Amino acid sequence: MEDDVFLVRFWGVRGSISVSGSEFCRYGGNTICIEMRCGEHTLLFDAGSGLRPAGGALRASGVTAFDLFFTHCHYDHIIGLPAFKPIYDRSVKVRLWSGHLAGRMTTRQMVDEFMRPPWFPVTLDICKASIDCRDFASGDVLRPREGVVVRTGSLNHPGGCIGYRVEWSGRVVAVITDTEHEPGKLDQAVLGLIEDADLVIYDCAYTEEEMERYRGNGHSTWEQGVKLCEAAGARELAMIHHDPARTDEQLDEIEKLAKDRFAGAFAARDGQTLEFPVLSHKAR
Ligand SMILES: [Zn+2]
Ligand SMILES: [Zn+2]
Repeated sequence: MEDDVFLVRFWGVRGSISVSGSEFCRYGGNTICIEMRCGEHTLLFDAGSGLRPAGGALRASGVTAFDLFFTHCHYDHIIGLPAFKPIYDRSVKVRLWSGHLAGRMTTRQMVDEFMRPPWFPVTLDICKASIDCRDFASGDVLRPREGVVVRTGSLNHPGGCIGYRVEWSGRVVAVITDTEHEPGKLDQAVLGLIEDADLVIYDCAYTEEEMERYRGNGHSTWEQGVKLCEAAGARELAMIHHDPARTDEQLDEIEKLAKDRFAGAFAARDGQTLEFPVLSHKAR
């Protein structure tokens, strides 16, 4: 793998539940999974249904070490883990990270809770890969691999959710999957995570017009994403966590409106890849 680009690939961009059908085929129906390649290091964010195709493609390209960070453990962010083939491969090493339940449940306990009978026939301890569960608390600065810095912060979502800021070789990509904003306010925790980022991946489940109906669900809007990116000096906004009912045509329309307000905005789609040439080999 080239070590002169910071690569971001979207494997799942749908929120809440996966969808299929001709009206969703361009943006895709898999739930949240984002790959980041920092040189030889492969990071994955969330284990939505997009993790299944990610696992197949990454194993085919020879990747044997993964760091998988959970933002939280609602179904749309975990359902792909049992279908992630690398965990059944004895030549693979997987580190699982979470912090949204810090002090209440470890990462290992969280995974063991949903990956066991009667919900699924296989438990984590009979998977052949070497699995290393790591725990952290919101606000911790993680250094999962040499030169890769991952900053963490709390988002406003029922049951808790972690936002991530990944820094490598002078580039910054932030992942804010699920968060509800307060009307008329910019969330300081989010601003801290996205400051001066090359790419902000943000929860754009709703439009501002729809938002009043969905208060309390823990999600945000593309309009708020634009405001945050402008305030933080971020360059690109990848809109994700698309509502499961949102058709390709509706997403085209939302993308157009967002681009008119902020040129770097786009509606992310499954399989989409972005590359950021490295600026330096030192994390900033
Ligand atoms: Zn979600
Ligand atoms: Zn959630």
